[in-house]
Amino acid sequence: MASKPPGRTPVNPMAIVPSVDRLLRTPIVETLIERAGRPLVTEVARGVVDQYRRSLRAAEEAVPESPEAAVLELGCRIEHGVNALVAPSLRPVFNLTGTVLHTNLGRAPLPAEAIDAMVAVSSKPSNLEYDLKRGGRGDRDDHVEAWLKRLTGAEAATIVNNNAAAVLLTLNTLAEGREIPVSRGQLVEIGGAFRIPDIMTRAGCRLVEVGTTNRTHLRDYEQAIGEDTAALMTVHTSNYLVMGFTASVDDASLAGLARARGVPYINDLGSGTLIDLQPYGLPREPTVREVIENGADVVTFSGDKLLGGPQCGIIVGRADLIDAIKHNPMKRALRLDKVTIAALEAVLRLYADPGRLRQRLPALALLTRERDEIDRSAERVAGALRELVSEPVTVTVEQCRSQIGSGALPVDLLPSCAVVLRLSVEQRRRTGPWLEALARAFRALPTPVIGRIRDDGFALDLRCLDDEPEFLAQLPALDLPTP
Ligand SMILES: *Cc1c(COP(=O)(O)O)cnc(C)c1O
Repeated sequence: MASKPPGRTPVNPMAIVPSVDRLLRTPIVETLIERAGRPLVTEVARGVVDQYRRSLRAAEEAVPESPEAAVLELGCRIEHGVNALVAPSLRPVFNLTGTVLHTNLGRAPLPAEAIDAMVAVSSKPSNLEYDLKRGGRGDRDDHVEAWLKRLTGAEAATIVNNNAAAVLLTLNTLAEGREIPVSRGQLVEIGGAFRIPDIMTRAGCRLVEVGTTNRTHLRDYEQAIGEDTAALMTVHTSNYLVMGFTASVDDASLAGLARARGVPYINDLGSGTLIDLQPYGLPREPTVREVIENGADVVTFSGDKLLGGPQCGIIVGRADLIDAIKHNPMKRALRLDKVTIAALEAVLRLYADPGRLRQRLPALALLTRERDEIDRSAERVAGALRELVSEPVTVTVEQCRSQIGSGALPVDLLPSCAVVLRLSVEQRRRTGPWLEALARAFRALPTPVIGRIRDDGFALDLRCLDDEPEFLAQLPALDLPTP
């Protein structure tokens, strides 16, 4: 940097502010232009210069020592601004919240086989809707329908954007302008804006509430069926449990009643699993195959909950009903893109070999991770954190319970292990703001770490720490707040 010219103070501090043109010709900004393009860099440079002039005028910052110093300072600010603009907004994080299939954190991580399939189909033209045998138009559902039939025992299958779309499309196709009786115990709201009564209204059908919140009997459905009844429907009470003095109608009885009255029986399974999870030590959840065997005519479920695949909604069931659903013009608006179909096909193929599923499907691997392994990881992470912190901050390893998440099996928790940061007892009164600041510091890491503030500590549930070396490597960058 040039030294300050002796004895010369600019008459007008504004004269020292370099022009945007001048800034665009400095080496640092030229490198930025090569990386991010001239229009974007120019826009940022203009903003930076304007802001600088305003704050000089308002005497909010010191007048620079020399024109060279001003150029350097503004160059840095432009670099900062451009970097912030071009950094990806959507990026990976460490999910140490203790909720494995976390909707806000993207639900199921995908297996390598699915990633490879997504890359392959993204970079080249594909036979998405092209029948290679006949050499004519094909159906995008064909790439997964045979797999879904094999894995669920259903006659037919179709796929849409997510399970909310699957429910909307199914109801609109089978019940528009007509009635569907649903138990009062099943009028669920699933995170955000998905409420069964609202979806029914949007699908154009009328909800007929039957039974009570805690008890619904077969006779309640019988009495509710009339001329206008289009179908019977069950909704999986994904995210809550009705306990105590309760009664509900089992699948087979409801299917029997629907058949006797000549209407289809729809089951919105929500999470929907293709395999029995009990042998893996997980709680019992009905499989799609069982629900079909019990007589459901249409079953809807998510691709990215327990199934462990990409975001999509899967509809399986009777061939004539699936055919009608496929021909609903709304299907076109809710259809799945080729990248997701590629991923789903790859994930379904893994299910053909259940023996190796746990090794190959990350969602199942995380849900069934050995407690020992989590404990050992927690000890290593706690050790690394203890190196960084000092009094009055404490780091402890504690038992905790992970949730499956995404409304799957809400009350069944998986034994796990957490590393918890706290303030020592004398400092507890300052805990609240400190915990917030600590959580923010973890989120500011190169790969943001999302933990959970609970009680008086900041907890990192290590069940889902799949890349411990990367986690440990970035810890030195942690900007610990002072209590
Ligand atoms: C999760 C869930 C949905 C919504 O599924 P998305 O894939 O999130 O759209 C619908 N119904 C039930 C019962 C669910 O659990």
